[in-house]
Amino acid sequence: MAELRSTDRVVVVGAGLAGAQCVNALRAGGLRGPVTLLGEEPHAPYDRPPLSKDVLLGKADATTLDLDYARLGVDLVTGRRATGLEPGVLHTDAGELPYGSLVIATGAAPTALPGADRAHLLRTVDDALALRALLRPGARIVLVGAGWIGAETATVARALGCEVTVVEAGPAPVPGALPAAVGGAMADWYRAAGVDLRCGAVVASVGPHEVLLADGARLAADEVVVGVGARPATGWLAGSAVELDASGAVLVDERLRTSVPGVLAAGDCVSYPSARAGGRLSVQHWDHALQSGAAAAASLLGADTPYDPVPYFWSEQFGRMVQYAGRHAEGDELLWRGAPGDPTWAVLWLRGGELRALLAVDRPRDLTQGRRLLERGAVLDRALAADPAVPLKSALA
Ligand code: FAD
Repeated sequence: MAELRSTDRVVVVGAGLAGAQCVNALRAGGLRGPVTLLGEEPHAPYDRPPLSKDVLLGKADATTLDLDYARLGVDLVTGRRATGLEPGVLHTDAGELPYGSLVIATGAAPTALPGADRAHLLRTVDDALALRALLRPGARIVLVGAGWIGAETATVARALGCEVTVVEAGPAPVPGALPAAVGGAMADWYRAAGVDLRCGAVVASVGPHEVLLADGARLAADEVVVGVGARPATGWLAGSAVELDASGAVLVDERLRTSVPGVLAAGDCVSYPSARAGGRLSVQHWDHALQSGAAAAASLLGADTPYDPVPYFWSEQFGRMVQYAGRHAEGDELLWRGAPGDPTWAVLWLRGGELRALLAVDRPRDLTQGRRLLERGAVLDRALAADPAVPLKSALA
């Protein structure tokens, strides 16, 4: 049971989804003492998924979360950056802030390409609004990285009439998260949308109006957008006693507690032990930020439930809804449910017949049913599970 006195100030560092969810859950859980939510952006917490979809497309300008901080009695401090941590004191660029308990929710920062200072990154609403202004019909856009954000940005840029080239170092889209057989099925979507997808292509340098590839090819570019992943935004913890892993993620236990008493962490910046996955997980997706923010609050309030949900995310690209749940590992058996050329399909990852993960393309029912099967570690009948006409929930062994 965590020892949280009602007079202790809880400081939540990082005013993103995980931080906002945490302060909301603290109040919903009955905490009466002072709560501060502090973030370096000049905005109140907002949702990021629409940034590479509706905001870039011009259908939305703001995605602010619907929370009334004054009503919640939460002191929301924007435009203030945490710079260091010692027991009981948070250092910021505008002075010190004493705390009783603290939650680290500083998220992740996009990885930049060395020497590509004029390339755009897409993380904040200001990034999205700045990029949107440049996506004019005929503009030559080179996207580096065919990951989730690269695919979504390519989708929007094509819809706005840009000429789009996507440069991917791996053999197929999403090489970090999916095997080439599955990512390869997505390559056709790029081509059908009129995107020039170049896999196995490594960027050598980014010049003022071109991207030079390692094989000598030159790509004319009015704008370059880099989407090659994100790293935990935890540099400000250097020198503190908070333990980080090699990638910079905050190491927490199953109740999201860090190595420093009274300090917890949630969202994109953590690495947590998952009994379900059989190892530590770092998840940089919306659902995890939402759930872990609330779980950190519950943990602070004394709940004794391990944090270990089935990871889930979605991506909207090339007119398709792509959803993934669970976590697969190398060596898991891959089972296709439908063929990649079909309008809808899914792939399942099985281990000894047990469903470990699934990716569904325009098959929301597979996702919903699959998520439940993942929760209970269901073993599937391969022939039934491979038949897209059989509901996944009826494909049990
Ligand atoms: P963040 O949202 O990064 O919030 C952390 C906050 O902390 C930031 O505002 C940051 O400025 C602040 N901060 C950092 N350092 C400091 C400091 N030293 N002091 C004070 N404040 C600091 N996920 C999906 O599942 N599906 C999607 O379709 C999807 N689309 C996405 C599209 C885009 C363009 C992006 C960027 C992300 C997308 N995601 C998606 C991922 C999802 O949005 C993130 O996983 C989620 O926002 C993480 O929330 P968080 O609160 O942990 O971190």
